[in-house]
Amino acid sequence: MVISARTRVAGLFGHPVEHSLSPTMHNAAFRHLGIDYVYLPFDVSPENLEAAVYGIKALGIVGINVTIPHKNRIIGYLDWVDHDARMIESVNTIYNDNGILKGYSTDAEGFLQALKEAWKDPYGCNAVVIGAGGAARATVYALLKSGANVVIVNRTPERALKLVQAMKSINCEWSVKSIDGSNRDEVENAIATSELLVNCTPVGMYPNEGASPVPCELLHPNLFVFDQIYNPYETKLIKKAKEIGAKVSNGIMMLVYQGAMSFEIWTKCKAPIDAMKTAIL
Ligand code: NAP
Repeated sequence: MVISARTRVAGLFGHPVEHSLSPTMHNAAFRHLGIDYVYLPFDVSPENLEAAVYGIKALGIVGINVTIPHKNRIIGYLDWVDHDARMIESVNTIYNDNGILKGYSTDAEGFLQALKEAWKDPYGCNAVVIGAGGAARATVYALLKSGANVVIVNRTPERALKLVQAMKSINCEWSVKSIDGSNRDEVENAIATSELLVNCTPVGMYPNEGASPVPCELLHPNLFVFDQIYNPYETKLIKKAKEIGAKVSNGIMMLVYQGAMSFEIWTKCKAPIDAMKTAIL
């Protein structure tokens, strides 16, 4: 790939960013389509976030992905933020539309596409979501909008309660409630009466691969277990679920689909899903 004065620049703001698979995935997509773009990781510390956002306009960067810890605070520096991103209070994609910085979140839709592909449309199902951070917000929002009933289980119950309150403003007939992650009986009952379990915590992620976000003996064969972690490829939760005959998905395709949507917002080209997936695998 030859970089010239015409090359359009996209990238990632996060802190840290060294571990990110996004540069590999997006640069493979640009190469696959033969379009003149490059994607760069930028390690932006919290005190430099505002200046970095001004830099998007000043440098004519076409698009930015946003990751931990900036997804929430960056909203305050943008010119326009779409409805889903405002509901989730999180932006993971910025599009520089001729000097107007527009914020989007593709996490909810990325999760939903991956879930439908690996399992089915969650309409009418009972789901347990573990975690109440950024990924959980997007996941709960996606499930409620799709017509699922959601129970949120989190280590810090107050945070889960806040998420429930925020989601209650979605005008829908589906229920959302939270339970304390340390109350084993309640967690057991919630999982026993659900068909879907989604892990939105880093518990089980490299290098703590021996950990599981819920006791594995609570899993049952009628569950679909979606672990949003993609490193390792199979977490302890996924392995144990498979052992008892439950169906599973890791977080790889969620990563690909949320990235594909960012790609399409920036380039207006259809994202080459297979090339993106191959690149990160
Ligand atoms: P976050 O905003 O920091 O939230 C983390 C959540 O995990 C919080 O609810 C936190 O509970 C809980 N948690 C953290 N450590 C825990 C522990 N040791 N025991 C129990 N609970 C714990 O992070 P995030 O952005 O939501 O990301 C969460 C995970 O999802 C990460 O592994 C990330 O890689 C993954 N993810 C994957 C994708 C994808 O495309 N596949 C996209 C986004 C995120 P407290 O509230 O008690 O602190």
